[in-house]
Amino acid sequence: MAWRFALLLVPASATDARTDFRETFTEVDPLAPGLSVGDLAAQRGDGVFESIGVIGGHAQEVDAHLARLEHSAELCELPGPHRAQWRQAVELAVAQAAPGEAVVKLILSRGVEHGSGPTAWVTVADAADFATARTSGVRVATLDRGFASDVPARAPWLLLGAKTLSYAVNMAAIREAKRRGADDAVFVTSDGYVLEAPTASVVVRRGSTFVTPEPHAGILHGTTQRSLFGFIRGEGYDTAYEPIPVADLRAAEAAWLLSSVRLAAPITAVDGQALSHDVAITSRLNDYLLSRRD
Ligand code: PLP
Repeated sequence: MAWRFALLLVPASATDARTDFRETFTEVDPLAPGLSVGDLAAQRGDGVFESIGVIGGHAQEVDAHLARLEHSAELCELPGPHRAQWRQAVELAVAQAAPGEAVVKLILSRGVEHGSGPTAWVTVADAADFATARTSGVRVATLDRGFASDVPARAPWLLLGAKTLSYAVNMAAIREAKRRGADDAVFVTSDGYVLEAPTASVVVRRGSTFVTPEPHAGILHGTTQRSLFGFIRGEGYDTAYEPIPVADLRAAEAAWLLSSVRLAAPITAVDGQALSHDVAITSRLNDYLLSRRD
């Protein structure tokens, strides 16, 4: 990954009335050490983050990402990010992105143990080339996430709706999917419902309706899925948030993994069984996602 830029932020309090936060930013060399060894992000994955896609110099869905960062911080009982401060940091990072596709990461850590508060930073790097995943698709393996559908409501301390830095399980799932001959994983509940992929939302098409699981089902509410649902409705389709039994994923007319940087990757096989790939719709979805200028 080619890192282009990194900025440390001294997080402003939610009531800070400033409109210019440049004095709270310090540019650092993205390849040089910049964190304390005691930082809880590094020690325990105790923090939250966002990855924003940048296309042709435009950061996509910044408001939705900042809203989710705030939601994740709230679930983790971290001080609320100051939206204007983070927005300005994103703008500075985007200005340093190379032409083409890039990824801006926002990270809010609980900070150094017994230290003076959260640490925060923003980076920008070149995005990987996802052209093949967008056009040829991905084969997925379904993997048991180890909890039943009622767990998110019963055990909020599992932080299932927060985008925390603790992605070791997600990365392990991708490795397991690859061992099974797939490219990516789809997590399912122990009672057999589709959740999400380790780094993407799942959407299936049933007739003229595009369906994704309820955001309260123990998944992240994807910014790409939300944006795409608006576009799809404008194209005359219906959209729905509904439980998706694993059997419905296997029987779907088409299905996709959606995420901010890879965008729409059609699912071409589930556990080794081929799934039909709607090339025309996939290409419309990615054309839309690539053309957003919000
Ligand atoms: N679910 C998980 C677990 C993710 O990590 C991601 C993205 O990183 C998503 C869903 C998709 O979210 P978005 O579309 O906002 O990138």
